[in-house]
Amino acid sequence: MKFATAIIIGAGQSGLAMSWHLSARSIDHVVLERGEVANSWLTERWDSLRLLTPNWQTRLPGYAYSGDDPDGFMTMPDVIRFLQRYASFSSAPIVTGARVTRVRQREGGYEVETNLGPWRCRKLVVATGACNIASVPSLAADLPARVASLTPLQYRNPAVLPDGGVMVVGASASGIQLAREIRAAGRRVVLCVGEHVRMPRSYRLRDIQWWMDVIGAMDVRYDTMIEDIERARRLPSLQLVGTPERVTVNLNSLRKAGVELVGRLVGLCDGKAQFSGSLANHCALADLKLNRLLASIDDWVNSSGLAKQFPAPHRFEPTDVGSETRLSLDLIEAGIGSVIWATGYRPDYSWLDVPVLDRKGRIRHDGGIVAAPGMYVMGLPFMRRRKSSFIDGAGDDAADLSAHMSQNLNRAAA
Ligand SMILES: Cc1cc2nc3c(=O)[nH]c(=O)nc-3n(C[C@H](O)[C@H](O)[C@H](O)COP(=O)(O)OP(=O)(O)OC[C@H]3O[C@@H](n4cnc5c(N)ncnc54)[C@H](O)[C@@H]3O)c2cc1C
Repeated sequence: MKFATAIIIGAGQSGLAMSWHLSARSIDHVVLERGEVANSWLTERWDSLRLLTPNWQTRLPGYAYSGDDPDGFMTMPDVIRFLQRYASFSSAPIVTGARVTRVRQREGGYEVETNLGPWRCRKLVVATGACNIASVPSLAADLPARVASLTPLQYRNPAVLPDGGVMVVGASASGIQLAREIRAAGRRVVLCVGEHVRMPRSYRLRDIQWWMDVIGAMDVRYDTMIEDIERARRLPSLQLVGTPERVTVNLNSLRKAGVELVGRLVGLCDGKAQFSGSLANHCALADLKLNRLLASIDDWVNSSGLAKQFPAPHRFEPTDVGSETRLSLDLIEAGIGSVIWATGYRPDYSWLDVPVLDRKGRIRHDGGIVAAPGMYVMGLPFMRRRKSSFIDGAGDDAADLSAHMSQNLNRAAA
């Protein structure tokens, strides 16, 4: 059996950032990765996807984007190259093709079973990602057999879809991007819209991510939240897309492009989809929250005395869902050939044989420090900071958690 003081499972940005910090602290470790470096970006994303975070924000400990297009958005091959270069730059001790099949608690640490044999460690970092499985609502089982059912993890491009219209369920980052692309390919698209976070690509001539960065919104810590942190962790992703044209994609632009907006999908019965009547309310709430964010940006500009450097504040037109939105749709009659469940993602801990999961299967942790001795998790939404699940968030979280691990090891040695 092989031994390392610490084992990191997963060689995405979270695992690599943690490896960089463990190396900096001379903590001997290994990164076990079931596929290749950046495996999720390599195997689980659709063809046209670009990051929705700008290139300047693609930064990891000791390493950052250094090309000539800081305001551009990376394609998937760019992201994969970036992470592969980071892995060799940081000399991360990665074992690729090592799938972890079981983790059990043992005296003083953990036993990690893999397809390449067992390992033992004292400290374990779960960096296996927050988006391993698509969260598909149970009503998907009631879809007529003739209608194909797929998730964003399976979707690649419009050509792979069966003929006919497409119903996209969910209007967050994945849902709006897929609805836009599939509609542009000439298909009928019906988009089911529930709670969502409306976001302009830019405001007062700066990218919205730039504003969120400078006003400190992305750095807000989990332990300083006044609102319910569990709710903040479950918030849908931002309605944003990264394109060379820097377009804003929202429900207004999708509707103009011919996408039909309907409310949240609440039922499927005899081939008929039923939608909630809450569409207008969800949109009004999203508009309200957007205006609140813009107001906090304006406040920050005024209080920093920088008002002259930016154009005057303005507001975006409210979401217009039209006067008549349908409450049901016969999928077969309407020629819907496929449904895409853009209803979120969740982690896969089927290999984790340690009692740290709550009844919903979520790992119990305090800012990434798991409720089991010497175990840490990385990359979960709002784990330590609002940016925890973003590329830009991995560095700060890894710095904090590696410091905790190091203190713990030093205490044990003393
Ligand atoms: C569609 C989509 C778009 C996104 N766009 C952006 C964006 O624009 N900007 C941004 O900052 N973030 C974005 N994110 C969020 C986030 O950056 C990604 O989800 C990112 O992949 C998370 O990195 P990670 O290292 O935490 O997890 P992952 O990248 O998922 O890495 C986990 C690794 O663990 C490995 N693994 C899993 N299970 C095992 C096992 N049992 N044994 C061994 N290895 C295992 C996987 O193969 C994988 O390589 C996006 C997410 C999605 C889903």
